[in-house]
Amino acid sequence: MQLPVPVQDLIARLRRAGFPAYAVGGCVRDALLGLTPHDWDLCTAASPEEMKRVFAGERIAETGLRHGTLTVIRDHVPYEITAFRTEGPYSDHRHPDSVSFVTDVREDLSRRDFTVNAMAWAPEEGLLDLFGGREDLERRIIRCVGVPEERFEEDALRILRALRFASVYDFALDPDTARAVRALYPTLDRVAAERLREELLKLLCGRAAGRILREYPEVFSAVIPDLAPMAGYDQRNHHHRFDLWEHTVRAVESSPPEPDLRLVMLLHDTGKPASRTMDERGEAHYRGHPKLSAEIAARVTDNLRCDRACQERVTRLVLYHDIPLRNEDGSPATDRRFLLRRLNQFGEKDLRALFRIHRADRIATGITSPEREDARMAQRMEALDALLRERPCFTLRDLAVNGSDLTALGFRGPAVGRALSGLLNAVMEGRLPNEKEALLDAVKKMS
Ligand code: ATP
Ligand code: MG
Repeated sequence: MQLPVPVQDLIARLRRAGFPAYAVGGCVRDALLGLTPHDWDLCTAASPEEMKRVFAGERIAETGLRHGTLTVIRDHVPYEITAFRTEGPYSDHRHPDSVSFVTDVREDLSRRDFTVNAMAWAPEEGLLDLFGGREDLERRIIRCVGVPEERFEEDALRILRALRFASVYDFALDPDTARAVRALYPTLDRVAAERLREELLKLLCGRAAGRILREYPEVFSAVIPDLAPMAGYDQRNHHHRFDLWEHTVRAVESSPPEPDLRLVMLLHDTGKPASRTMDERGEAHYRGHPKLSAEIAARVTDNLRCDRACQERVTRLVLYHDIPLRNEDGSPATDRRFLLRRLNQFGEKDLRALFRIHRADRIATGITSPEREDARMAQRMEALDALLRERPCFTLRDLAVNGSDLTALGFRGPAVGRALSGLLNAVMEGRLPNEKEALLDAVKKMS
């Protein structure tokens, strides 16, 4: 394994001072998988105070000191160095009751969650793999270190982490670990929301997210109770081939692996069960479900402590997930007026997101082909690209006149806003050119 030069140097410095030190956890796992680790974590027998002495004069951050972590910054890259430690149980399901520093790396590796995360590596020693992590990587297995039930009882978040790693790497759970997941998932409701969110979003963006959602619906319902009615829910509608959960799973899988969009797809139809009506032919309808789904999305993203921007974006995209994007004959609406309206309403980024959401939602019905939906989305994207190349006006900011121009003409108060949006509409509809003189002339005639 080739460690980056700064990592080699940090390990060598600690070792010269008499402290065993290793690269550990996710970076060892990823390097063995042939992936580029996104960060390199070290562990060592040195206490935080001893680390501070070893790295005196270097740029350091002490934020994690209480948990035994010192961060050394080299070339603007932070390296977290953590003292070997054991953890007491998490009786509040948020933080370990106690951490104690130890001098044996074996104890530190034993407290880690999964065999593939419990390997350490140092240049002279090579791989330290006490629990068969390397073999599990080769067999593509997520397996707890120790007795799964005990490890999940210490910290229930590990249940979701097991599924997260299985999703990200497309691994299976070892049977004993899977059994413990199925037995103990109800305890997830006690874990701090921000810890759940972090794992959930990584899981949703994983390569095998669809398979994991399909295999463990009850786990997701423990994290988001609004998902509970979906598994096995017969949609009774000829536009849908699948039950509501399978539709949702397929919609997630068919969307780009970005946290916001995957959350949108997970939540987009949560309002369906509560909005169902049956017609005389026995077919179900879900009028108004996007609004109910959006209310659920607002609550769920708030409960998960997503940041404001994420809460607002996800809620909005859920609310508009099925706005019409087609002409009467079913072909994609690509005319200029239509696209400008939508650009005005959503902005470029979210309009493109809505095209992707629409595609995923359609594919997930099971009554159209992915190729057909790809072609339709490409048509929409190309029309949008062509339009945007002309740098069209679709917001008040783009308009060739502004509020002070109108005030100068004697407009006051709400009349200013009304005149501006009237002008913007006229420009978007092609009735007026976006030129200052023409717009001022028109507005004089209007008043
Ligand atoms: P990622 O690539 O997502 O950062 P990671 O394996 O580095 O994956 P982290 O959450 O950064 O995951 O944790 C770093 C290491 O700390 C893990 O590899 C694991 O050894 C240990 N660890 C993290 N969380 C837990 C936990 N809840 N219980 C036990 N060990 C944990
Ligand atoms: Mg990490």
